[in-house]
Amino acid sequence: MQGAWAQRPVIAVGGILHESNSFHSVKTRLDDFRRPSAATPQATLDQWADNLDEIAGYIQGGRKAGFDLYPTIAARATPAGPVTDAALDALTGELIAKLKAAPKLDGILLALHGAMVTESFPHGDAEIVRRVRAALGDKIPLVVTHDFHANVSPEIVAQTTVLLTYKTCPHIDQKERGMQAAGIMARIVTGEVKPVQALVKPGMLYNIRYQYTSVPPLRPIYDEELRLEKEPGVLAVSVSGGYQYADVPAMGASVIVATDGDRTQAQTIAKKLSGMLWATRDQLKLNVPEPAEAVRRAMSSTKAPVVLVEMGDNIGGGSAGDATFMLSELVRQKARGWVVALADRAAVAEAVKAGIGGRFSSPAGGRTDKIHGDPVNITGRVKTIYDGQFRETEIRHGGQMYYNQGLSAVIEVDGSTRDLASYVLLTTERQVPFSLHQLISAGILPERQKILVVKAAVAFRAAYEPIAGEIIEVDTPGATAINPRRFTWKRVPHDLFGLRP
Ligand SMILES: [Zn+2]
Repeated sequence: MQGAWAQRPVIAVGGILHESNSFHSVKTRLDDFRRPSAATPQATLDQWADNLDEIAGYIQGGRKAGFDLYPTIAARATPAGPVTDAALDALTGELIAKLKAAPKLDGILLALHGAMVTESFPHGDAEIVRRVRAALGDKIPLVVTHDFHANVSPEIVAQTTVLLTYKTCPHIDQKERGMQAAGIMARIVTGEVKPVQALVKPGMLYNIRYQYTSVPPLRPIYDEELRLEKEPGVLAVSVSGGYQYADVPAMGASVIVATDGDRTQAQTIAKKLSGMLWATRDQLKLNVPEPAEAVRRAMSSTKAPVVLVEMGDNIGGGSAGDATFMLSELVRQKARGWVVALADRAAVAEAVKAGIGGRFSSPAGGRTDKIHGDPVNITGRVKTIYDGQFRETEIRHGGQMYYNQGLSAVIEVDGSTRDLASYVLLTTERQVPFSLHQLISAGILPERQKILVVKAAVAFRAAYEPIAGEIIEVDTPGATAINPRRFTWKRVPHDLFGLRP
């Protein structure tokens, strides 16, 4: 086949991405998905390429490989509760319609998160792939990329030609993985390689507390992954940490290896890395303070700013963004110089009503449901009201540059002094804390504060580590509580390591 192309290979690109939290009460509907596109296929490709994610990587890599690229859909929604069946049907239906309308397709590059749960399907991504296969046949090369937080099942590995995941957490290699996928596709369509895959799962809930690939215990495994990927015949080596907020059979860490026709090699490498994950068990003990203890430690720390990580309300993990466990504890212990951001549309409206400089007195937070704490009465002065848009210029988790958290307000809380103020930042939309410009654009200089609360787990580190004096993780309740004992599990394998720390 090599060199036999009269025309350039036609490769479809696109994605449907959602990380679905089984414990979040708010379902993810079709309207929650952003689906950017432009007037022509070319303009759509250009728009998608102007980014730092895997779809941008498909396009850049595909152009380099000489593909005739064909855009389908690129749909994403902020992590939240399970996706509705109607949304899955609509998005997959649109994807398949686009694929069927394409001229003589030679391959598909598809970005799926890997931890999508829908109302009817515990593994939404596998269902998307099943429908694509049912419509397009078993023969067409299908290379899928997943997030590092994918929960991978044997079904999806069996139905994909090659499956690879981001290697880093925080995720800073998304574009690189997209380019790798395009490179593998180029070798498939010319007939140079015939991929086979192996999946080995170590049977672990690899707690999100430890899913940081820059430091041990994962760092040596990440290094080994990169080394093994350079071995002859190896196409892709992926270690995914898994997503622990999905109560599904496939939940947990995975190793997926694709080689050129050598099943034994794939199996051997996958087993080796799975063994390395399993061998880190002793390093995965959860020893994280609860809010009262964490606030005490932060108040007595000499290393400002202290970042308090409200792990139970990890917005990037699909939580509510309005939990009040840290806020109420800061208020109760009369801490000073802190910042808490809360998604609370109604409180923003109260601030707007009061106006800049006006008196604010309103409950804030704790509105989404009962598991994220009660509203806390906040009294103070409205310092800032603004449109909630900001821009990040550095490479941060997720590769996003332009942010919009909607109409926002800063309340300078009573007890603040000219030199040391406490702030509640109220936002209309839930906003992941992946950029310091969330605070800077609101008129808050993070380096001057004593305590910064972030609603996150690991991903915030790319932005906050450079300025943090100290980082204290906190075991709080919520849809993303890091302590699995806080949840009732129904569908995960009950013998999973880490489920009962
Ligand atoms: Zn992720």
